[in-house]
Amino acid sequence: MTTTPTPQPVRRVVIAGGGTAGWMVAAGLSKCLGRQVDIRLVESEEIGTVGVGEATIPTLHLMHEILDLDEKEFIQATQATFKLGISFENWRNVGEHYFHSFGKTGKGHWTAGFHHFWLEGRERGLASDYGDYCLELRAAMDNRFALLPDNGINYAYHFDATLYGQYLRRMAEGMGVQRIEGKIAKVHTAADSGFITGLQLADGPLIEGDFFIDCTGMRSLLLGETLGVPYESWSHWLPCDSALAVQTTLVGDPVPYTRSIAHPWGWQWRIPLQHRVGNGVVFSSRHISDDEAKAALLANVEGEVLRPPRVIKFTPGQREQVWKKNCVAIGLSSGFLEPLESTSIHLIQKGMTRLVELFPTDGIRQSDIDEYNLQTRDAIEVIRDFIILHYHVTNRDDSAFWRDCRDMDVPPLLKHRIQHFRDTARIMLRQGELFAENSWVQVMMGQGITPASHHPITRNMDNRNLADFLGEIRKETARTLMKLPKHQQFIDAFCPAPKLDVATNRPASPALRINPNARLDVVQLADGAKVYVVDDFVQDPDALVALAQAQADRFQAVPGHPYPGPQLTLPDALAAELDGFFRQRLGAALQLGAPLGMFGRFSRVVQDAATLDARQRICHRDDSGLDPADMMSACVHYLFKGEQLGGTVFFRPLMSEAETAQLRRDAGTLDASAFGDRYGIAPGYMTESNRYFEVIGRVPARWNRAVFYDGGIFHSGDIRWAANKAGYEAAPGRLTINAFFKSRRP
Ligand code: FAD
Repeated sequence: MTTTPTPQPVRRVVIAGGGTAGWMVAAGLSKCLGRQVDIRLVESEEIGTVGVGEATIPTLHLMHEILDLDEKEFIQATQATFKLGISFENWRNVGEHYFHSFGKTGKGHWTAGFHHFWLEGRERGLASDYGDYCLELRAAMDNRFALLPDNGINYAYHFDATLYGQYLRRMAEGMGVQRIEGKIAKVHTAADSGFITGLQLADGPLIEGDFFIDCTGMRSLLLGETLGVPYESWSHWLPCDSALAVQTTLVGDPVPYTRSIAHPWGWQWRIPLQHRVGNGVVFSSRHISDDEAKAALLANVEGEVLRPPRVIKFTPGQREQVWKKNCVAIGLSSGFLEPLESTSIHLIQKGMTRLVELFPTDGIRQSDIDEYNLQTRDAIEVIRDFIILHYHVTNRDDSAFWRDCRDMDVPPLLKHRIQHFRDTARIMLRQGELFAENSWVQVMMGQGITPASHHPITRNMDNRNLADFLGEIRKETARTLMKLPKHQQFIDAFCPAPKLDVATNRPASPALRINPNARLDVVQLADGAKVYVVDDFVQDPDALVALAQAQADRFQAVPGHPYPGPQLTLPDALAAELDGFFRQRLGAALQLGAPLGMFGRFSRVVQDAATLDARQRICHRDDSGLDPADMMSACVHYLFKGEQLGGTVFFRPLMSEAETAQLRRDAGTLDASAFGDRYGIAPGYMTESNRYFEVIGRVPARWNRAVFYDGGIFHSGDIRWAANKAGYEAAPGRLTINAFFKSRRP
């Protein structure tokens, strides 16, 4: 243990790296401590992220609870599916499979877990397959899933790693994290203390801070390279050191579990998302070459390969310390076991929550550092042992790889645990261990261990009691299973995500899916003009919000355009569908002539009322500058649930046509204050009558309501900025689709 540094308050936190680790830490820290510390994150698009890490475990729910994240929104933004466990195929032996489910199996007693009763029942011929007593396992095998009340089903997710990072980034930036693009060229340290003082960006500024979080991936630029913390290799226990990852199109419906398929030199993963599958092989370079592994991977995937496979090299292990001086490493920079059992994202989350618990706001103390390092090591060593178990306990004898795994010496605690289970079926957990008893039991038995004995308490039950006990659990599991929909059905109903373009990860050919049963209502304005209102306009408005959210970084304020917020052009397929509906259903009502084109966009209102220019302070019409032979119609589709964010208000001018035209010209040419002085119109959104215009009608906002009208009617968004500022500013805010349809006059 080193000397105690002088405590200096920590106010400026710098996160180096913006992969899953960087953004998870940024989001978590800003949620918990954002009021006390200033958080900046540096990342380099040129370097990019590792781009894998798409299977999770149920502990992720805690992270999402901390972030107060909307599950449906998260699923749609990341193309996620549900995961009930892992199917281990060919691990015990070629052709033999087992399942590690996230659920509980049966019900235990304080003296002994359920598997002891099951083993007793098995011995007496009263028990069926171990999996029959676990809902998650049965549901996975039958490709079923639903969210159940009272956490009735234990699940995690598969998601797109890049989209997850982007999703967290939006969230973190929304909470005030500042992102800085740039490549870290040098890490500066103080000559006396050795503390990190700043990150020098190539051709850029020096990013100074009090505390640094190293999320630079396997490079470990801060903790490893700069502070020189050695890396402890565990490759003598974890034989794989290479991976190849490739994405393919989805064939059939996604299953609610990860597939882990063993091969003579390692194993292969299949992670189904809503519209594609993540595949990869993890292998030992001592037993197979990269080229051979690549050929094996491509021979063992289904569907069309979307991008060429990428090789990733790693050394299983951990930094000797993960917190040194004023730097904590979280994510791959701190170490990496391997992908089996999908524990890395969990370890990132743990790293973040542990840091919040021990955060050195009032100064860095060596005792906090030591505690952090101790906890980290304890947590990872038992996870490491659990993974080694899969390799070591096997009946496979078909390759040097498996023979080496079977014959290797394993860490002492694991050795003891295996022997203890073999002898007595007992799993005695240490406090705070990640994997529960049922996980150890499933893998121990799944890999081929049949315990020689089990707990004698089970003999207290006579045959009838034991049969009833086991039978009731089995029946209850089967009853619940029958009520669950298929996984795909549940996704379709609850959280369908738009299909993405592979090259860009942007939505590809999404559909508007207009509700065929939607009713068209007519609202008559005070001057007799008509506005057409369609409620429940599209079948899945959430998918449209998700589509917009997935591209939030592409929304842009158009320079010179009076719309008070950023916009994003509607994808062609969607625009065409909207145009089709408009022409077919409103053509006659709006007396449209020949179609001359349309334009549609997603829009958000975000501009502070105090900063509106002259044009933005008055109502407007959409047919300015149009040839008199043509006409413009408009549509606004409300995609926000907070009705207080405002619908649309319609006006008629109170002045002559010439005076009205002059006022509009002045709004376009005078600066805001000159216009304000001339017309007495203060900064603000126009929602009420004034000297120049009178309100003739309002259509309130409603979730999934579309409003169609003649663009020649003066109108304005019914924006109540002061009362709802936060609602407008928080994403997705007042999200609408605005469309404009040009036609010849009849
Ligand atoms: P990275 O994604 O590598 O991010 C590093 C960041 O640092 C990037 O933003 C990069 O631009 C930045 N950076 C680096 N150097 C510089 C520099 N000089 N200047 C500026 N920025 C810099 N985990 C799971 O939980 N489940 C899984 O199923 C799973 N599967 C995996 C499969 C494989 C083959 C591998 C290798 C890992 C897997 N993992 C899995 C682990 C998971 O991918 C990582 O834990 C997760 O992606 C976090 O990575 P990271 O953010 O630490 O690093």
